[in-house]
Amino acid sequence: MKRVVVKVGSAVLSEQNRIAKDRMQNLVDFIAELKTKYEVILVSSGAVAAGYTELKLDKKVLANKQALASIGQPILMNKYRKMFEHHNILPSQVLVTAANFNTAGESQKAKDTIETLLQHNVIPIINENDATATEELVLGDNDQLSAYAAYHFGADLLIILSDIDAYYNKDPRVHNDAIVRSRITCIESEELSREVTPNHSFATGGIVTKLKAADFLLKRGGAMFLASGFDLKDARSFLMEGNHIGGSLFQTKEGGE
Ligand code: GLU
Repeated sequence: MKRVVVKVGSAVLSEQNRIAKDRMQNLVDFIAELKTKYEVILVSSGAVAAGYTELKLDKKVLANKQALASIGQPILMNKYRKMFEHHNILPSQVLVTAANFNTAGESQKAKDTIETLLQHNVIPIINENDATATEELVLGDNDQLSAYAAYHFGADLLIILSDIDAYYNKDPRVHNDAIVRSRITCIESEELSREVTPNHSFATGGIVTKLKAADFLLKRGGAMFLASGFDLKDARSFLMEGNHIGGSLFQTKEGGE
């Protein structure tokens, strides 16, 4: 069975300082569907956003952001648990820091846990351990974390479900003639050095962190699919029916489609 990592961002999981329940439910239903065909690992953001629903701390202060993540992570997991329960799926929480991917030995330990969870049909839900991950331990954004997870945990594909529905030839928020780049085989270095511009107040990344994630995987023979997390039809048709209609696939020429 093929293995996939699905990454979902805070912009998809929250709206107006609340958890976006319908979108989260759609995601959970989609993952249950994917599980009929793939081994699925979920990387979920949204801890800080979920914490903010309970306590309005100024998230620009690092210590507050860490506290919000610490409050929000169990709220998020509780919601996932309830939603997966309807599908008879048991979720688990895996919190990582950069140290878990520093050496092959370290990542192997985390992989052993992931393998055991998958063998027992459990959905591992990964997030950064924001409460303790500062300075040298910080991964920072879950786009890159999900690329490390995909690589170190042996996934065939990383799927990023985002408020950005594809990679365009120019910024679609500024240019209405921007067109989707549906297949990308390599990323130029200047595309990676642009400023990081998240679209949403709880999001850490933006297109640049997604390109960095794709670049990391492309250089290691991996692949990534970027599609909308608001409307899952492109991700569904690509993954369940093998039809690439919308969204962007990052894969080398040798990878084939
Ligand atoms: N780990 C953060 C959270 O769960 C999000 C990081 C990101 O959005 O990339 O809130």
